[in-house]
This record gives sequence, structure tokens and C-alpha cells, in this order.
Amino acid sequence: MSEFYNVAEIFGENVFNDAVMQERLPKKVYKRLKDVISQGRDLDLETADVVAHEMKEWAIEKGATHYTHWFQPLTGVTAEKHDSFITAPMANGKVLMSFSGKELIKGEPDASSFPSGGLRATFEARGYTAWDCTSPAFVRQDAAGATLCIPTAFCSYTGEALDQKTPLLRSMEAINIQSMRLLKLFGNTTSKKVTPSVGPEQEYFLVDRQKYLKRKDLIFTGRTLFGAMPPKGQEMDDHYFGAIRERIAAYMRDVNKELWKLGVSAKTQHNEVAPAQHELAPIYAEANVAVDNNQLVMETLKKVAGRHGLTCLLHEKPFAGVNGSGKHNNWSIITDDGINLLDPGKTPHDNIQFLLVLTCIMKAVHKHADLLRESAADAGNDHRLGANEAPPAIISIFLGEQLQDVLAQLISTGEATRSLKGEVLQTGVKTLPDFMKDATDRNRTSPFAFTGNKFEFRMVGSNDSIAAPNVVLNTIVAEAFSDACDVLEKAGDFEMAVHNLIKEQAIAHQDIVFNGNGYSPEWVEEAERRGLPNITNMVDAVPALTTEKAIALFEKFNVFTEAELKSRSEILYESYAKALNIEARAMIDMAGKQVIPAVIKYTTVLATSINTVKAACPADTSAQESLLTEVSALLAEAKSALGDLVEAAEKAYVMEAGRAQAVCCRDELKAAMDALRAPVDKLEMIVDKDMWPMPSYGDLIFEV
Ligand code: ADP
Ligand code: MG
Repeated sequence: MSEFYNVAEIFGENVFNDAVMQERLPKKVYKRLKDVISQGRDLDLETADVVAHEMKEWAIEKGATHYTHWFQPLTGVTAEKHDSFITAPMANGKVLMSFSGKELIKGEPDASSFPSGGLRATFEARGYTAWDCTSPAFVRQDAAGATLCIPTAFCSYTGEALDQKTPLLRSMEAINIQSMRLLKLFGNTTSKKVTPSVGPEQEYFLVDRQKYLKRKDLIFTGRTLFGAMPPKGQEMDDHYFGAIRERIAAYMRDVNKELWKLGVSAKTQHNEVAPAQHELAPIYAEANVAVDNNQLVMETLKKVAGRHGLTCLLHEKPFAGVNGSGKHNNWSIITDDGINLLDPGKTPHDNIQFLLVLTCIMKAVHKHADLLRESAADAGNDHRLGANEAPPAIISIFLGEQLQDVLAQLISTGEATRSLKGEVLQTGVKTLPDFMKDATDRNRTSPFAFTGNKFEFRMVGSNDSIAAPNVVLNTIVAEAFSDACDVLEKAGDFEMAVHNLIKEQAIAHQDIVFNGNGYSPEWVEEAERRGLPNITNMVDAVPALTTEKAIALFEKFNVFTEAELKSRSEILYESYAKALNIEARAMIDMAGKQVIPAVIKYTTVLATSINTVKAACPADTSAQESLLTEVSALLAEAKSALGDLVEAAEKAYVMEAGRAQAVCCRDELKAAMDALRAPVDKLEMIVDKDMWPMPSYGDLIFEV
């Protein structure tokens, strides 16, 4: 029987959250820390010492022996270095448990083992981790004991960002400043701060751990490199939102409990489109907390799976021909007093502000479609985007029928005087219609859809940090707001100026709006006519980071320096090439040591059977003979493709890291991998199942 617990009681029990701080910290210290958190000031050492001491005492009560600065380098996973709280033994041989403010604020891991994309060559190898006090510390309890985890940013000796969090915090500052400017223009005097809010929906696959362990491709690369389609795929649509099986339900229950203890508000869970695929979504939170929480979600999904004899696959495309996994990044901008700038609102006055915000976002996405696309670029995601299961690789905005109609009126007459769905027209300041919040339809094919009071960016890969897309969203929208404010702050007649600007932006950027079927081939042609980029792979996406446009944007808002952008693109090329090299080597290993020997065994059995049958009686052995011919031909094809792949892999492997290597991997290595996979998948359909050296797709996705 499973254990029962009270969610309200366990929620956040392992988080050093506001309630704990208020209870444990002296009033003055608490107030000081809150000011630092809300206003982004520097924390003084005296306050830090008191906070650190209380944090340590609290963590020790939870069983913690160690603390770690928990950070997100550009490796794609979180990193941590554990230090215990113990001090040097005293004269009496005893130790104390200590944790100073200095240790809380700053750590100094050796940065040389983390990717720096060349920043390391020019600067020192030392790196710093700095406490991000806007994301609460937590205690993680697992087989390794309990550890106090302190969310931190990770920078080089001279302050260059070497992680995901630093640019994210900078971009949050940028959108805060520009949104406040905009709100002031509309007469808002009460809001003090604007924060991007993010709710990521996480998709994942679960497979049986024993079967997983029999597949080297899954172990080394997270995806299957061989595999014929099972007789039944997802065509029946019987899995989506279907009843959750008991084994999976028990797993989800365990995941939820772990996450709730960590203060992650896991809210919805359901089966996804593909068999064995599921989704988990938390309630939205401030962007940096949402990014940290999503890392915890991914970590927890994987960790808990082991306890249930399962393995969680977060790869974007674990199985060819079966829907892959992504992450929907729901994004909005909300003030400290609860005003969502993406809420269409009830009065014409709000509508005008909303329409300005909306057309600014259209402008931002239109101008920087390449950057948004790049922010979701990933070797795994290349298999997914544009494959009729996820958004196409072309960035466009879905507005829904009602907003689209308003936009069309603005564009044709300069004024919108009616609203669809029989809404009563409110003639306010200028004739703009009311909006109904949920008048938006669903369009699953759009990469960037307006869904009532938020935008949903659906391109992000399941395995990726959501930091990069949010950095881009925050910064490009900050730029559009800033441009708008530059115009409006100088305007004599504000009302007139706003209307003109809305109209102007709606007209100039209408081409980014597309409400039709994003999977259709016509859209690819239409997008090309509109001049929208169609960037089909990661290698072609990376250059967006270092265009003059991108450098000017990120430098203007202090999010990235040019050097940081260049270093990031180097890291991306390198990680792409690494991913493909590992895949190629895993394929070589499996084909050479498992598949080919198994096929040889099978041909031997066939040949022996032909001879035995012939010797016994003059029977017709043409079936066996034709099978043998077919298998032998495929075997020869596989053997020769394997030789080509070995050659291609050697060539790619020794190349210097950088764009040329990534291009070689994309064009030559990938082609060689496909050429090997084709005959092997055909062989899988012929060779005796008992002889096939690994579990099939059917075994993996239907028997969980
Ligand atoms: P869907 O129908 O796409 O599943 P939901 O309304 O369930 O959409 O929300 C999906 C995610 O969006 C959840 O994580 C939710 O908390 C988040 N979300 C809801 N409102 C907002 C908002 N204003 N800003 C950001 N995220 C939001
Ligand atoms: Mg959604």
C-alpha cells in the first residue's frame, strides 16, 4: 500500500523559503534580505553571516551534512561541488559545523573543466559562483544523504557569464526596466517591478529499466539509433490523455511528492500523444525560479524512475517515427501588484496598452525570429522540429480568430471598431473593441501561440534548459518596449501617438502572424514569400547569435557581451559535434559487436537448415534460399555502410572544434549513420526475434 501524506504539510518542507526566513531570521536581517531580493541590491557580509548561520542550522535539522553551490554551466546539466559543514578538528579532536556568509555568497570552483568557448583562453581558469538569493535554497535528500543546495550564478574571474542563470537574471532586469517605462506612460503609479513569469510543460518517456540496459544507444545517447517501427504506433490516438497505468501512476505519485517537498508546484500530469510518453506541468513562477525548478523536475523525473524499475528519457526524439518530446514555455509579464501585461483586459484603456504590448511582441518576434529559433536549437531537437509532430522550424505567431480580426481591422482602416463573437463594442478613448479572454482557439501547429493571457513558445527541446528561450524573449521584448517608449515619451499627443504606433507596428509586422496549419507544405512556401527564416537544423541556427543585430541587441541591454556571444556559439558547435560523434561511435559499436554477429548467426542457421532439409528429402528450399539471399545482401550493405561510418567518424573526430566540424557532422556523419541504419532496420524485420540482440520498439514502448 502506498503511504498517505498531506500535500499542504509537505509542500516546500525542504525549502528555505519566505516563511522559514521570516520565522528564523532576526526581523532586521529578514527585512534587509527581502530588500536585497526585491530590489536586486548587494548583500552585505554582516547580513549574509546571519543568513548563512540560520540556513545551516535549518539544513542540519533536515539531516544535511554538506552544502553545495548548485549552478547551471553550459554543459546542459546542473553542476555541484559538495563541501561539508565541518571545520578543522579542535584541540579536543571534535569538529564544529560552520557555514559563513562568505561561503554562502561566493564559491570558487575550478572553471577549467566547464565549457567556456574560448573565454578561458583569454582569462583565468578560475570561476566564481554567486548566490542568486531570488531563488530559494533547498535541501535535497537522496541516497547520498542530505545536501543544502544554494542556487548560484557562475561567472569567470572577470565576470563573463559561463552559465544559464547569469544572462537570464540580466534579461529579467532589462524587461523590468523597459516594462516599467511603458507602464508609467499609461499612468501606472503603483507597480514597482515587472517580472517575466514562466510555466514550462515538460514531456518525457518512460521505459523499463531492464530493457533500457540492453540498449547501448539509449545508455550512451538517450535515443535509439536503430529500430524498426512496431506493428502498432500512435496512429490509434489511444494513449493521449488515456487512463494512467498503475505502475506509472505510482511513479508519478512519487515524483509529485519529491517535487512538492522541494517547493515545485507540480500541478498537471497526463499521458501524451506517443505511447509511453507523459507530461508534467508546474504552476508558473518567476522566470529564474521556473528555470531552476524545471532543472529539479528533470532531475527528479530521472532519479525517481530508478526506484520504480523505470528509466526516464528526456531526449527530444528517443524513437524515430514516434512523436518526440518538447517543452512548452508559457511566458507572460506580470507586475508585483498582479497586473499581467498580456491580459487583454476589460476596458478600452487597457486594450490600448495591451494592443501596444501585443504589436511590440509581434515586432520583437518578427525582427528576431532567428534568435528565438536558435534558443531552441539542439542536436536532438533537429529530429523533431518540422517533422509534423512539433512546430515547424519556421517562427510565426498564432493570435487566434478574435485578435487576428482586430489586427486585420487595424491594418485595413487604422481603427478596430468591432470584435468577433458578438461582443458589445465599447467605444472608449478611441474605438477599440473589448476582448474575450478565451476567444482564442487552439492551434497545436504554431511555435508561438497566444493563449489567452500568455504566449506559449512550443519549440523548446525536452532535455534543454528553458533559460535560453527566456533570455531571448525577455531581451527582444525589452528592446521593442524600449523603442516604443523612445517614441511615446517624446510625443505631444500621447493618445494619438499610441494609436499611430499600434497601427504602424501591426502593419509592419503582420507577416509574422500565421493562424493556419503550420505542418502544411504550403506554409513553407508562404513563409519563404514572406521572408521568414526557415532554419532546419542547429548548425544553421547558431550564427544568429553573432549577427550585428544580435550583438547590438544583447549589448544594449547588458545581457551578453560580444565575447560572451562568440563563446556561446563555439560551445554550441562543439556540443553538436560531440553529440553526433558519440552517436556515431555508439552505432559503430552496436553494429559491429551486436547486429552483424547476430545476423551472421541467423544466416548460418538458414544455411544449415537448407542443407539439412535438402539432405533429408528433395524438398523445395527456395523460401529459405531467397531469405538467405535477401539477408546476405542486407548484411553486405550494412557491413559496407559500417566501414563508411567508421571512416566518416574518424574524419569528424580529428577535426578542430568549431563550425566546420559541426557542418561535417551534420552533412557527412549523419548521412553515414542513416546509410547504416536503413539495412539494419530492414534486417530487424526479418531476423528471428530471439536472435536480435536488443529489445525492439514494440518491447520498449508498449510494454512498460
Ligand atoms: P495548456 O492548456 O496549454 O496545458 P495551462 O493553462 O494548463 O495550458 O497552462 C500550462 C502552463 O502555463 C502551466 O505551467 C501554467 O501554470 C502556465 N501558465 C498559466 N498562466 C500563465 C501566465 N500568465 N504566465 C506564464 N505561465 C502561465
Ligand atoms: Mg500547452
